[in-house]
Amino acid sequence: MPTAGSPRVDARPILPGATLGILGGGQLGSMFAMAARRMGYRVEAISDVADCPAARHCDRLHVGCYDDPAFLAAAAAGLDVVTFEFENVPAAAGEALAAVVPVRPHPQVLFTTQDRGREKEFLVRHGFACAPHRLIRSRAELEAAVAVIGLPAVLKTAAFGYDGKGQAMLVTADDVEPAWITLGARPGGPRECVLEGWVDFDCEISVVAARGLDGTTVAFAPSRNSHARHILDVSSVPAGLPEPVHAAAIDIATRVLVALDVVGVACVEFFVTKDGRVLVNEIAPRTHNSGHLTIEACETSQFEQQVRAVCGLPLGSTRQLAPAAMANLLGDCWHAGGGPSREPDWAAALAVPGVRLHLYGKSEPNPGRKMGHVTAVADSVAEAVARVTAARRAACRA
Ligand code: AMP
Repeated sequence: MPTAGSPRVDARPILPGATLGILGGGQLGSMFAMAARRMGYRVEAISDVADCPAARHCDRLHVGCYDDPAFLAAAAAGLDVVTFEFENVPAAAGEALAAVVPVRPHPQVLFTTQDRGREKEFLVRHGFACAPHRLIRSRAELEAAVAVIGLPAVLKTAAFGYDGKGQAMLVTADDVEPAWITLGARPGGPRECVLEGWVDFDCEISVVAARGLDGTTVAFAPSRNSHARHILDVSSVPAGLPEPVHAAAIDIATRVLVALDVVGVACVEFFVTKDGRVLVNEIAPRTHNSGHLTIEACETSQFEQQVRAVCGLPLGSTRQLAPAAMANLLGDCWHAGGGPSREPDWAAALAVPGVRLHLYGKSEPNPGRKMGHVTAVADSVAEAVARVTAARRAACRA
């Protein structure tokens, strides 16, 4: 059920015909642009690279540096609202834009969630359960944290980590020194890290939720996510969770959006422990890879929901029309990305019933790089998972 929060001062909707800005030019930006343009908006992306996925789907692309306030102010001049599609931009970028145009979610959300230390501090302050952790600023602090948290544990850089980048597993005491040298020790001074206790989880899930300008919240059903090499591999919905876990995930995700005062879309990723506890892993203040299947499976996609939320429009129904699954296509599937000796066979993938192909138009298929995904709907979630994995195998077969 939608829940209403405190009304905002300026709740006038931004209607079709207006120009929406998206900070970042990746696939999340291009899928946002496709949804927005279908609804009659103009879209301008702000990116630090010209050859980006969003370039093909926007009315205009502004290319410059995220740490150049003059560039950002000039880009924002003709926009009615700005949202973002990834969080690894300087916090000052959000502030520079906010001086010119409404930024939704507001830049403080970006600031909190782009740093694992600040994000954990937010979670603890608001009473959201998460993995045991310590903020690490020196080798000595790492030793002390290992003594308290125990091993195995995982050391993560506080900032600019994604898709398993900036993470090191600590299994024995011998792993402490190399992990610190790789991630923390820097000639100019140590890089801040977070040590997290290893969670022996039963499964990983995520909830994409939206919050409107009037404080109304809606959530998509939790997605069950499996990872390979710390990168999302397959998502499926329904997640087949016990009812209390399903309800807790939606409740926590909704309360996270309220506590952050998000206007827009955010995704909360969780570990579900073997004894049924639901621990927050991390928060993405934007649409999420695990929500891509909402394009085919739900009455409103996560991207249309983002448009609606940041424009102050009524949020759409998140009702799922059919069981669905999504499998990522990484650069490894291409010959140039270290994969098979021939290019992917898309015809073979599309021969699998119910499969939809999404390619992001990236020119360099590096190993681990998200190049596209396949989604399938089916009568059961097991069948949907079987379809996307079969399609991917067929495409990427040697
Ligand atoms: P992250 O970028 O922090 O979401 O980490 C990527 C993936 O690594 C997660 O989705 C998990 O599969 C795994 N992982 C990260 N941290 C932990 C942890 N503390 N315990 C267990 N698995 C983890």
